[in-house]
Amino acid sequence: MTAARGTDGVLVDRYGRVARDLRVSLTDKCNLRCTYCMPAEGLPWLAGPQLLSDDEIVRLVRVAVERLGVTEVRFTGGEPLIRPGVVGIVAAVAALEPRPRISLTTNGLGLDRLAPALRAAGLDRVNVSLDTLDAARFARLTRRDRLADVLAGLAGAAAAGLTPVKINSVLMRGVNDDEAPALLRFALAHGYELRFIEQMPLDAQHGWDRAAMVTADEILATLRAGAGPDTEVGPPTAADPHTGASLPRTGFDLTPDPAERGAAPAETWLVDGGPARVGVIGSVTRPFCGDCDRTRLTADGQVRACLFATEESDLRGALRAGADDDELARRWRAAMWGKRAGHGIDDPTFLQPARPMSAIGG
Ligand code: SAM
Repeated sequence: MTAARGTDGVLVDRYGRVARDLRVSLTDKCNLRCTYCMPAEGLPWLAGPQLLSDDEIVRLVRVAVERLGVTEVRFTGGEPLIRPGVVGIVAAVAALEPRPRISLTTNGLGLDRLAPALRAAGLDRVNVSLDTLDAARFARLTRRDRLADVLAGLAGAAAAGLTPVKINSVLMRGVNDDEAPALLRFALAHGYELRFIEQMPLDAQHGWDRAAMVTADEILATLRAGAGPDTEVGPPTAADPHTGASLPRTGFDLTPDPAERGAAPAETWLVDGGPARVGVIGSVTRPFCGDCDRTRLTADGQVRACLFATEESDLRGALRAGADDDELARRWRAAMWGKRAGHGIDDPTFLQPARPMSAIGG
């Protein structure tokens, strides 16, 4: 299908998809070092002047909301909570008309402290990343001994009303793929909504291996079977880290969620008849590019039409050269028009983008 090129109004691409969901990276820096994301020593971070200022971020989000039909804004990074101005940025975006829905993806460190202020500023909800419930395993996986802080962040977010609190988990073979049932038990016990994400070729080390990836089908099979495969690195935790109660290792009855999926990346299943759900984001084996409604802004002001795009469009340069809102909107539309039909991970000519996930904004 081809569409008419948008010269004003929404962010439409040549396949007729309309981007309404804006992901904004507030920083490329992170305070964890997840092995599947970046090396132990970190990455060459963007220098201060390269980063958009708080005012520049708010201006670009305003253009997206007021002129381009964006209705959802998700802050991410890097780790968005380490940006000093995060609460002020949320407040300014919440004051836009029409007010977009505002969410934030975080590793949870410091969220217990910041959740009330973020809520008061207008944040609607959070996604917290958590790949294991076992403290030693968490320390190995993230190279930081901070599981207790993430758990405090989850509890703080729920207490502040940043709900539904969603948990994102990436499973890796022989590392934490035995923990899928325990993670789901934990989420169900506390009213968190769990989503598993298939690992994608977006790591800074370029170590992703399609054959080693835990697929959506395997995740579903493990949840249905319970327990999980044995790994070389020790047994999965069987205790709820919030309460100490034991987490039964029995399987779940999963049935397709009758709710309309829309443009959501996660495919969802009702757990044991519902209403609780579990989601799987099968970016690699069950791509959802045909329904994608996302546009991305990096911390240095580049528009990306896709996580896997190899082209970026420089809004920071235009903005600093004095472009008015019309011109910024025109450039944003032009960038989205060129969005490719699919990410092409399974195509033999696939090229991993130069920037890793942490620098694009996951
Ligand atoms: N620091 C924040 C956090 O931890 O949620 C936001 C940025 S992080 C890049 C966003 C999400 O991307 C996390 O849930 C993380 O687990 C996930 N992620 C990072 N690298 C990934 C990869 N190669 N494949 C799939 N998900 C990945």
